[in-house]
Amino acid sequence: MNTHMVPHIRSINPATGEQLADFAPDGPAEIEAKLAAAAKAQRDWALRPLDERCLLLGRMAAALRDRKAHFARLISLEMGKPITEAEAEIEKCAWCCEHYRDSAADYLAPEVIGSNASHSEVVFDPLGVVLAVMPWNYPFWQYFRFATPALAAGNGALLKHASNVPQCALAIAEVMDAAGAPKGLTATLMVGAGAVSSILADSRVAAVTLTGSTEVGAKIAAQAGALLKKQVLELGGSDPFIVLDDADLDLAVETGIKARFQNTGQSCIAAKRFIVVDAIADRFAEAFTAKARALKVGDPLDPASQQGAMARSNLRDELHDQVQRSIAGGATLLCGGAPVDGPGAFYAPTVLDHVGPDNTAFREETFGPAAAIVRVPDAERAIDYANRSEFGLGAALWTADIELARRLARRIEAGAVFVNGIVASDPRLPFGGIKQSGYGRELGAWGIREFTNTKTVWIGPAQVQKG
Ligand code: NAP
Repeated sequence: MNTHMVPHIRSINPATGEQLADFAPDGPAEIEAKLAAAAKAQRDWALRPLDERCLLLGRMAAALRDRKAHFARLISLEMGKPITEAEAEIEKCAWCCEHYRDSAADYLAPEVIGSNASHSEVVFDPLGVVLAVMPWNYPFWQYFRFATPALAAGNGALLKHASNVPQCALAIAEVMDAAGAPKGLTATLMVGAGAVSSILADSRVAAVTLTGSTEVGAKIAAQAGALLKKQVLELGGSDPFIVLDDADLDLAVETGIKARFQNTGQSCIAAKRFIVVDAIADRFAEAFTAKARALKVGDPLDPASQQGAMARSNLRDELHDQVQRSIAGGATLLCGGAPVDGPGAFYAPTVLDHVGPDNTAFREETFGPAAAIVRVPDAERAIDYANRSEFGLGAALWTADIELARRLARRIEAGAVFVNGIVASDPRLPFGGIKQSGYGRELGAWGIREFTNTKTVWIGPAQVQKG
């Protein structure tokens, strides 16, 4: 490979368009060195006692908190999210590290299972080096929610981060160094998308995890499938936010605003389709639009900003195209609907009403600050519409009738249903999707076991079974 032909990886501030930094991609020798070092370090790491591995997680939490302000600023500068949200992201990463430090022993405890052996048990061994292909939307969290349990389980972790957050990618490597991670066990590969295929094909890579678009997920799944390598795919979503007529409307509106507009709308589990029963739809639309209009859009580094810039100008343009096609397809524009004048990839908080199941905003994932209100006659139609999506990541359901909510939750095709709350990832609970939103789970006991070999250990002599 001639590295002169591979484009440089550029860090661009989406709020200003200014280039912040420029990195030559890793060449073949650097990639080879990182693969070799990871494979070597992982073999040793797998043999370390679990409690020793967990000490690293505690040091990772400390290293994150030590430079929280610096890391948060980098996130806001590179991908445009409000600084208060970036600080919360670092804090959540530290929480995840501490959670697995304290819980990995329980999650990975051998399970004794009765059989005809004198003793049989299931143990969880690491798979090896895992390649992580990660997105820009939560540049730290996406990495730490994968890497923390994977490392605790005895794996190595190679990060190929999104090309628009190279400074965050390098900062993550600094966190691991500061925490005293064994040399080479984790590394940031400074490579573009074109290098992923050959790295995935390398025999020293045991498994892959991708968080990103459904389109790229399908490509990685096809290659990993052909290579018979374990994969976890965390892809797009078009989460429904169902509001029934007995819901606490004020709380539903307030939570819905956060669920749609936090992270400038660029979250896989953002509420995207607000499915509201007719009896309260006018009141919901009016209150929701008033709050969306009032959101303070501005400089990501200003603590007062509630919505920052979108991560790249092409993503802003794609969202605007979706909004225009939605209006052309019959949706009513209640507010926003246009880029904000001036430099930077800013988009006005947008609310679309009377969105039907054939509309663009219903059928496609809108990855930015645009909410779609879908009116339905009753709860039955709400569930029908919620499921009329190729995605199945998260869902929210608002009602005062908890028994009804529990029954309806079982009928919603999604990896998570949050009743009277905001869909969120939590280190204690499994996270992931079905359908085009991917497969596999991150977080909780389920996440730490994804990159393990569920191994049966059977100890004889067998007792002869009677009968
Ligand atoms: P993307 O293209 O799927 O990028 C995600 C990661 O995959 C990046 O590291 C990217 O690297 C890499 N990648 C891209 N093409 C690849 C290929 N052919 N082979 C291997 N790796 C490849 O996502 P995006 O362009 O940043 O965003 C587009 C859409 O993805 C969004 O609109 C949204 O629908 C979805 N998305 C979902 C999530 C989520 O959390 N579920 C997060 C982000 C985006 P490069 O950056 O070098 O291309």
